[in-house]
Amino acid sequence: MTTGDLRDTFGRVATDLRVSLTDRCNLRCSYCMPAEGLDWLPTDDVLTDDEVVRLIRIAVEMLGVREVRFTGGEPLLRRGLADIVRRTTQLRPRPETSITTNALGLSRTARTLAEAGLDRVNVSLDTVRRDVFHTITRRDRLDDVIAGLEAAREAGLGPVKVNAVLLRGVNDDQAPELLRWCMEREYQLRFIEQMPLDAQHGWSRAAMVTAEEIFESLRTEFLLEPAEEPRGSAPAELFAVDGGPHTVGVIASVTRPFCGDCDRVRLTADGQVRNCLFAREESDLRGALRSGADDAEIARRWQAAMLTKRPGHGIDDTSFLQPTRPMSAIGG
Ligand code: SF4
Repeated sequence: MTTGDLRDTFGRVATDLRVSLTDRCNLRCSYCMPAEGLDWLPTDDVLTDDEVVRLIRIAVEMLGVREVRFTGGEPLLRRGLADIVRRTTQLRPRPETSITTNALGLSRTARTLAEAGLDRVNVSLDTVRRDVFHTITRRDRLDDVIAGLEAAREAGLGPVKVNAVLLRGVNDDQAPELLRWCMEREYQLRFIEQMPLDAQHGWSRAAMVTAEEIFESLRTEFLLEPAEEPRGSAPAELFAVDGGPHTVGVIASVTRPFCGDCDRVRLTADGQVRNCLFAREESDLRGALRSGADDAEIARRWQAAMLTKRPGHGIDDTSFLQPTRPMSAIGG
């Protein structure tokens, strides 16, 4: 049952759907939200499990979506997660299904999620030093994250990827240490340039640790050569470490944007389509769902939402405006 695809006016087709299941989180990373947290979405605004699954079904069956990644906030806080994963992986064609998580509680749920059909996990972890972890996340939970990573690997949710952000003066001296730690445990590490998506609007281009600086730091201890596999629309540039087989990825979202190959579209926990991480407008699908629109009408609205997607994020433009919603409400 195909109606078409999610094509924008630049010819890019979105096949990778990021679904935020909640805007809540149990960490308070300084680059994401203030210590006291945020005003969370009212419960009635958040899509129900049935509503989320219906939108995913429309995206997969009618709009050509091939990959579904659950995000947050922290998606493990969503009570119905395993059931949503199960119903997603029962769709045909079966989408590749993953989550981006901080791994708190994953030691208890990894097996259930794998049995529900989850394919992979990406875990956010910026340091393996307890004091620095506490400084960044404002919580003393490093051991839980490490246990969650191990459980994910044991449950077969691999390759387990670790996403790290380097912050100047906080953990920017720890890139080689983190890479060694990940390689010893067979986790695939990717460094991500910090993007202006924090609720406090504290990001600055000058303070951001750039991909170039990350390479420089890694090259003090490792030999890096571009990996052979083609990058395609994947955001990470991959490098073989010391001749391989281990690799490290660098996602230079700010200094070397990959928007020209973008294949992503986002759905917020309250049912808004965002055609770009940095979109300033959203398209309301929850309203359509709740006012009785049929699948074809929702698909049509979703396709229309893609037509205003801009060519890129424009972070370097003088006219750049940070989105009004923070990362925790958009989904990473
Ligand atoms: S910034 Fe927007 S257009 Fe660029 S890769 Fe991210 S989602 Fe795609």
